[in-house]
Amino acid sequence: MLRDPVVGVLALQGDVREHLAALREQGARAVPVRRPDELAAVDGLVLPGGESTTIAKLAARTGLLDPLRDAVAAGLPVYGSCAGMILLADRLLDAPADQVTVGGLDVTVRRNAFGRQVDSFEADLGLDGLPGGPLRAVFIRAPWVEQAGPGVQVLARVVGGPADGRIVAVRQGDLVATSFHPELTGDRRVHALFVQIVRSHLAERAGVHAGNEEVPA
Ligand code: GLN
Repeated sequence: MLRDPVVGVLALQGDVREHLAALREQGARAVPVRRPDELAAVDGLVLPGGESTTIAKLAARTGLLDPLRDAVAAGLPVYGSCAGMILLADRLLDAPADQVTVGGLDVTVRRNAFGRQVDSFEADLGLDGLPGGPLRAVFIRAPWVEQAGPGVQVLARVVGGPADGRIVAVRQGDLVATSFHPELTGDRRVHALFVQIVRSHLAERAGVHAGNEEVPA
């Protein structure tokens, strides 16, 4: 039996506590991440909602930006919610020219995409591959995915209204991003999905190591 995965939450700004609690409910050992040595100790990472420009600036200032980029490039499972989706995106629209991202997710994300009139709203969404029916999604000054690369799986789109058809949840390998905030509802299915991704990643790594040990010297 594999150990429980250690899942970090980037804790520079944003709704860190809610994610820590949601991850613990799924059996993960959830820890805040503020420094490169803390990042190095996790099996997966959540980039929370908040203000993406602030989080990116703080990450650069605290020396976390490059380690975050390296970790994503090395295959660390990462889940980005709202501002976290923006941080994972390779390309941004409606962002300050100097806004940097961690990147890794082959998408173009439009910040504050739903417009000022609808700063916040809730909707029921069907999420591909998520059993149990529609999910209540909370959007707060949310981005959407304007364009997704060929390796990106679209998990959910808005249905109806002016944003009909817009992409609001995606997966690319072990990277997951949602425009909305599942940590703010009692529905833990998105966190369960991510913890499962982290567990599988951990099991794969353990398998590789066990395999290596069996090779005679
Ligand atoms: N509008 C915010 C940003 O661009 C994201 C909002 C959120 O995370 N709730 O960073």
